[in-house]
Amino acid sequence: MPLDIKSLSEEYENIYYIEGLHSNSMIIGEYLIDTGISSGYIRKLKKKFEINIVLLSHWHEDHIAGNRLLKDAKFLCHSKDKHIVEDIDKIITYYGLKPEEFPEFLDAIEGFRIKNTKIDGIIEHEEIIKINDLRLKVIHTPGHTAGHCCFFEEKSKIGFLADIDLSNFGPFYGGIDSSVIDFEESIEKLEKINMEIAISGHKGLFQGRKLIKESLEKYKSKIYENDQRILSYLSEKDPINSDDLMNKNIIYRKYGPWKILETAAEKIMIEKHFEKFLKNKVIEKKSNGFILS
Ligand SMILES: [Zn+2]
Repeated sequence: MPLDIKSLSEEYENIYYIEGLHSNSMIIGEYLIDTGISSGYIRKLKKKFEINIVLLSHWHEDHIAGNRLLKDAKFLCHSKDKHIVEDIDKIITYYGLKPEEFPEFLDAIEGFRIKNTKIDGIIEHEEIIKINDLRLKVIHTPGHTAGHCCFFEEKSKIGFLADIDLSNFGPFYGGIDSSVIDFEESIEKLEKINMEIAISGHKGLFQGRKLIKESLEKYKSKIYENDQRILSYLSEKDPINSDDLMNKNIIYRKYGPWKILETAAEKIMIEKHFEKFLKNKVIEKKSNGFILS
């Protein structure tokens, strides 16, 4: 497939959307956001653009896979995700699995040819990165990972949402550094911004303020649906824990060939809901599980 580079603004010439194979990217001046478009696409991109700085939205393998092909660039990410980008052996443990439990995942990582990447600098919430006459704002949006960041260019009103990806699956918070509480707040942060174009890490472009806000709201509502599904198993008498809720298709309506990873993620996601219910005093601890308050 040919590399698809799309200019996003007539007024600001140096902002581009790149539809990728594993995840989507954005170019803004000498900056590239995320490197999961594919190795072939990165090689082609380097012929057309001078990429001096790479911003990583988060540590997930499908967003950092092309780092190794950009050796001359400086890499920046949030401090909370830095240690995993620099030590990719941690990835599987952050999905709640031991390497021996799911060797196929290690093969997939091998297939991505991900290498440890030295992070040259840290980005922080509300930091403005000046790129020629443009102002790219960092929005720390934890929940998906602890250091997940979105980006918003203030003049063109173009946003990069990474894995607040507006998919029908809804938010994914199945890593040990995830948080459903933070994810909700992060979506709300984005809802306050008047974005004209939003780039999803996996679902392409969303254009128009109204559509973007509605899509964020619909995406957030998946969290409430998950709340209700989990709560329907709880009672005031018999305590249950995440082990009791395994293999019930609570989050994944259908398990695929990567069921081991999906069920590990599902267990973590259910536990993140328990944390939220505890905080909101909807449930309480009883013996080795939870009951409704
Ligand atoms: Zn991700």
